[in-house]
Amino acid sequence: MGHAGYLGLTVPSERGGRGLPATRAAVLLFHLAYRSGTTFAKLSLQPEFASVLGEQGGPELVAEYFAPMLRGETLVANQVTEPAAGSDAGGIQLTAALERGEYRLDGVKTEAAFAVDARAAIVYGRTSDEPGTRGISAFLVEQDREGVRRSLSPPDLGERWMRRGQIVYEGVRVPIDHRLGPEGSGFKLVRTELTRERGLLAAIYLGVARAAWDRSLQHAAQRRAFGEPLARQSAVRDRLVDAWAELESSWLLVLWALERFDRGERADAYTALAKATATRVALEVIDTALQFHGGRGYSSELPFERWWRDVRSGGIAHGPTEIMRRIASTGLWGEDGPP
Ligand SMILES: Cc1cc2nc3c(=O)[nH]c(=O)nc-3n(C[C@H](O)[C@H](O)[C@H](O)COP(=O)(O)OP(=O)(O)OC[C@H]3O[C@@H](n4cnc5c(N)ncnc54)[C@H](O)[C@@H]3O)c2cc1C
Repeated sequence: MGHAGYLGLTVPSERGGRGLPATRAAVLLFHLAYRSGTTFAKLSLQPEFASVLGEQGGPELVAEYFAPMLRGETLVANQVTEPAAGSDAGGIQLTAALERGEYRLDGVKTEAAFAVDARAAIVYGRTSDEPGTRGISAFLVEQDREGVRRSLSPPDLGERWMRRGQIVYEGVRVPIDHRLGPEGSGFKLVRTELTRERGLLAAIYLGVARAAWDRSLQHAAQRRAFGEPLARQSAVRDRLVDAWAELESSWLLVLWALERFDRGERADAYTALAKATATRVALEVIDTALQFHGGRGYSSELPFERWWRDVRSGGIAHGPTEIMRRIASTGLWGEDGPP
């Protein structure tokens, strides 16, 4: 994927990426997902997910971990979620205490992708008691450091290639230059990236759904029931037309959200809306495709059941749909919520 130019689509060219605007990246990811499902498209975004390393890491860390990621030679995971803190990242309890010129990490990360496969991880931990996310800092932690214990969780519903699991940190010592950005800035620094990635994930889900819809259209024209093609049944035809409208309108929402982002306008509410909408629409359209393919649609002979399982993660990973709505609502009423 590195050779094909699919790693680091929006990473600035001076950092070794393609430097594309998010709208162009979204089109490429849509087509990648259309042809091959979510796997390669999501792998393509791994350097984006590690943007805090590319932007805040010192030259040695960047050369050792970020540059190889752009070549597809190494994996750097992101570890935010903990047993008692998921949607509410302000509840993170893993501590990073400065002791004798090094940080000492203690705590547990869970639900994390590439749990036993990543060479290093960006780990979010508490460096002060300041409330919410203000006391949280990001660290690059090599996963073979003493005191790191990794294990796989039972297999997921979909996207099993992520091999998620749990990582225990017990007295893990990390050099001070492995902190990414100033203390307490862990979440502030990734805000822009989170805004962009929600829009790009939405593009991926819609790419898969469009593939499902195209196949349904062909199938409905060919498959006959009750003496005529399925597409002549008004229930089938109307649902395909509705699905078409949902796909087109949510794709326009994704492009509009990312266009705002590319213009440097505030876009967090829009990309959150785009991710929530695209996930819902994609699941419904894939489910329709599965339905119209009948018994074979339900089997693993056809891709729909896998696509449904893979896209289903979109309602939880990178922030559940309810949290996307919460962020979107700030576009209506501001940070303090409705009056
Ligand atoms: C495929 C996949 C890959 C993942 N990869 C990673 C990874 O690499 N690194 C990582 O750190 N984590 C990862 N996660 C974890 C993911 O980020 C969390 O599962 C997610 O943030 C939700 O946290 P939680 O599971 O603790 O759910 P909780 O926070 O316990 O929430 C449970 C549910 O409650 C509802 N809910 C929560 N808060 C609210 C609210 N305020 N209003 C209304 N409803 C609410 C939502 O429906 C939510 O799904 C991954 C998850 C999946 C499924």
